[in-house]
Order: sequence, then C-alpha cells, then structure tokens
Amino acid sequence: MNILIMGPAGAGKGTMSKEISSKYNVPHISTGDMFRENVKNNTPLGLKAKEYMEAGLLVPDSLVNDMVEDRLQREDCANGYLLDGFPRSLGQATDLTKMTSKISRPVDVALVLNVELSVLEERITGRRICKNCGAIFHTKNHPSSVEGVCDVCGGELMQRKDDTLEQLKVRMDEYTNQTEPVIHYYEEQGIANFVDAGQPADKVFADIQVILDTLKKGK
Ligand code: AMP
Repeated sequence: MNILIMGPAGAGKGTMSKEISSKYNVPHISTGDMFRENVKNNTPLGLKAKEYMEAGLLVPDSLVNDMVEDRLQREDCANGYLLDGFPRSLGQATDLTKMTSKISRPVDVALVLNVELSVLEERITGRRICKNCGAIFHTKNHPSSVEGVCDVCGGELMQRKDDTLEQLKVRMDEYTNQTEPVIHYYEEQGIANFVDAGQPADKVFADIQVILDTLKKGK
C-alpha cells in the first residue's frame, strides 16, 4: 500500500506513522526527520534547510522533491511506502504524481489528520523527543518515567526548536496556505480520507486501520 499521512504540526503524524509502518510493513519516510538528520550532520542540504526549519517555514520544493524521489526508488518501497509530511505544497504534490507514475508506485490513499488548534497548542508545547532514537513523549499526556530520559533507549529528551507557540502560528499559516490545497488535490482524485485525530491515540489508530484494511481488501 502506498500511503500519505497529512495534518498540521502536532496532529500525531509521527506517532501514527510508527504504528502504521509496523502493522502494514511499509517504510516510514518522514521528510521532517530526513531534514533533521541532514541538519544534525551538517550536510550541504541540512545547511540550506536549517534556516527555513527554524523559522517554521517550508523548505523550498526544489530541495525536498529530489530527496523524496531518490528515497522512493529504493528497494524497500517496492511493496509500499508511508510518506509523512510530504507533499506539503501543490508543486510537491504534482511532482509526486509524476515521480510515482514513473516508477509505477502511485499513491493509494491520503490520510488527513484533523485536530482543533487548542489541542495542537497543548500537544506541541508539551512534546519531547529522544535525541537518540526519536521516540515521542509528552510532558502531561505521555510522560517518560524519569523526567528528561527516554523510556525506550535511555537517551536524552529534548524539545524541538520549532515546537513553540510562535512557531506553531507560522507553521499553521504555511499549512493553511500551502498544504490545504494539497488536500483538495487528493479529494478530487477520490483518495483523501479524513480522521478525527483529536481522539486518544489508540482510537485514532483504530480509525486508520478501518480505512487501510478496507483499502487492502479492495486491492
Ligand atoms: P515536520 O517534522 O514534518 O513537522 O517538519 C519539520 C520542518 O521540516 C517543517 O516545518 C519544514 O521546515 C521542513 N519540512 C518537512 N517536510 C517538508 C516538506 N514536505 N516541504 C517543505 N518543508 C518540509
């Protein structure tokens, strides 16, 4: 299955992606994670992306699209993929259509996570991420057993630089202006599926499974 997961910052794309990737056996491809890795390693791509990311702005399409095209051609995508955080602009969406038809791996479904702004604010400001393994915690809703220490690997937890209320506002504006047209693009193709992501994580995942299992049966 070739899956996209979309939604504003804090909607739970990362958390749901981990569940989907393991249950449906598809590689989780997060453009945000790929950029953060490049920034961490000071690669030329990371150096270019850093200023946009820290400002909460979208990185230009030209830097994102090639990175995704390379990744989708890898062997592990032959039986499906899960794209998290891509496409986020119409330019990226039309490019994705071209690149996936070239390799005969067209998108089957776009999962769109919907959440109210007040919930996003709470999730974003309390989010903590393990520097080492990327596990996601929340100071209130899903705290680690020892403050600041990852339950999974013992690594140090940190707050992302863009996880502040000010940055959330910029990221929401980018979402409304650039990403919402992408949702309409997939609605027109009849492959957008909306999920109420304001519910607890297990309920959100249950709803996603209904969508994906129905799709799988029809294939
Ligand atoms: P995320 O982890 O998905 O919230 O992404 C973090 C940041 O990486 C975003 O705020 C953007 O600056 C950048 N980014 C990730 N994916 C994309 C994309 N598809 N297009 C442009 N910028 C992106």
